[in-house]
Amino acid sequence: MPRMTVLLVESDAAESERLQGRLQWVRGVDFVVTARDTLAGALEALRAARFDVVMADLSLADSPGSETFRRLRDGAGETPIVALIDPHETALGLLAVEEGALSYLIKSRVDANTLARSAQRAVKNARIKFGEWDSPMFHLAQHQFLKAAQLMGLDENIRERLMWPQRTLVVAIPFRRDNYSEVETVFGYRVQHVLAMGPTKGGIRYHEDVDLGETTALAMWMTWKCALMRLPYGGAKGGVAIDPTTLSRAELQRLTRRYALEIAPIVGPDKDIPAPDMGTNEQVMAWFMDTYSQQLGYTVPGVVTGKPVSLGGSLGRREATGRGLVHVVRRAAHHLGMDLAGSTAVVQGYGNVGSNAARLLAESGVKVTAVSDVRTGVYNANGIDLAAIDRHLAEHATLEGFAGGDAVTNAELLELPCDILAPCAIQNQITAANAAKIRCRLLAEGANGPTTLEADEILVDRGILILPDVLANAGGVTVSYFEWVQNTQNRPWTLAEVNERMGEIMTNAFDRTLQRSLQSKLDMRTAAMVEGVERVANAMLLRGLWP
Ligand code: GLU
Repeated sequence: MPRMTVLLVESDAAESERLQGRLQWVRGVDFVVTARDTLAGALEALRAARFDVVMADLSLADSPGSETFRRLRDGAGETPIVALIDPHETALGLLAVEEGALSYLIKSRVDANTLARSAQRAVKNARIKFGEWDSPMFHLAQHQFLKAAQLMGLDENIRERLMWPQRTLVVAIPFRRDNYSEVETVFGYRVQHVLAMGPTKGGIRYHEDVDLGETTALAMWMTWKCALMRLPYGGAKGGVAIDPTTLSRAELQRLTRRYALEIAPIVGPDKDIPAPDMGTNEQVMAWFMDTYSQQLGYTVPGVVTGKPVSLGGSLGRREATGRGLVHVVRRAAHHLGMDLAGSTAVVQGYGNVGSNAARLLAESGVKVTAVSDVRTGVYNANGIDLAAIDRHLAEHATLEGFAGGDAVTNAELLELPCDILAPCAIQNQITAANAAKIRCRLLAEGANGPTTLEADEILVDRGILILPDVLANAGGVTVSYFEWVQNTQNRPWTLAEVNERMGEIMTNAFDRTLQRSLQSKLDMRTAAMVEGVERVANAMLLRGLWP
């Protein structure tokens, strides 16, 4: 019989005995329980021995509930912790989940079976977490999901399934350097999170930090994003661990074609439809589509979206993410009673998302006071001349040396005073370290995962309205969906049709999220997550499990 060692931390002696008794009743696993009734006792036990799992009451005589989880986590290292709480302490349980617990259990309601399953799952998940999926971004994606799942009372079987991607493919990609004799081998990924909603959908990222954990986090966010927008897709994401700026155009093409070939078995217009993301663009999509089509012997435009318009791409796709962001910003400003004309915005990142967001904000009467690229930012309290920025970039390919404002670092830029702050670059930008110094009213996340869990809480407490990534940057995938529909029907739409329908979908998603946030007293991110998760969970329950 498998053996599991449990450190049970419970201040109430009778409760402790009851929980131990329940664990002894579990069939199939031999639970060896060490019981302690204080935090000090628990930390000492953790120093003296290794346990498979810690199950801990959070309100202890020598530690207030809000502190216990963090202190235990520091002492427990990689050992997973399941929080035990009283029915009136769900806020504490949620806090523990945000801080890294996989779940919390309400002591008086938990039966032997649930107790045992939670312990086993915690151990399994901890082992996996510190294995192949180990990444801060995946941790963020999982804990945002767990928070929503706990709040909405999601079926725990479904919760367990949605914590992980349905399919992951890791490929080694050899490609020739321009000198012909050198062959570089890099890793590529394609992750499909949920196949129950229709084909899967999501971009391809080329960046040196790409790994399985990051790709999986991005795939999970695509699931909630598509569900929130009510698009008939599950989430996916792909990526190659390489810095594309170090490649020649020919190298980029060979790499892309080989990557496309390697993941071809699991993509297709009815299976999984890639699109651009960070480090990829229309040209990369064109090569991908061509490679896939060459294998089949005929042109398959619908295998990717974000293609050049001349190859079946959609009008309006290029600026769609920025345009969608501005749609929800406008809606949110209206809700806050804030006049867009005359308000100020700071935009981090000047790639496809940031540059279009900045331009369209400016066209809506917003004064854009700062923008940045990877290397530097520029700030001008009187407003930045965006056309001059574009001219400077066309010539120098970097914002460095731009004369129309003061140079600021990317970190300084985030702390500038403004009405609208739009992080449109990379993840992990607003953290516990700078969240207290953010000075905006509205945070519109053009990037995926720019805000950490700790920062989220600080911003919400400070009354900053967050337009979460799954909502604020969903204009891109929405127009991708239109592109796919145009490809499968062989009927191109006009730009007016594209923009109008995107506007409707964005507005509708914003309104549903806001309504849920107000009705259920949830922050906007959690409201958007619950809205998305609920749709996916319903579909999964209706389809059933087979075999
Ligand atoms: N990569 C984009 C995103 O993160 C777009 C995905 C798509 O168009 O499929 O939403």
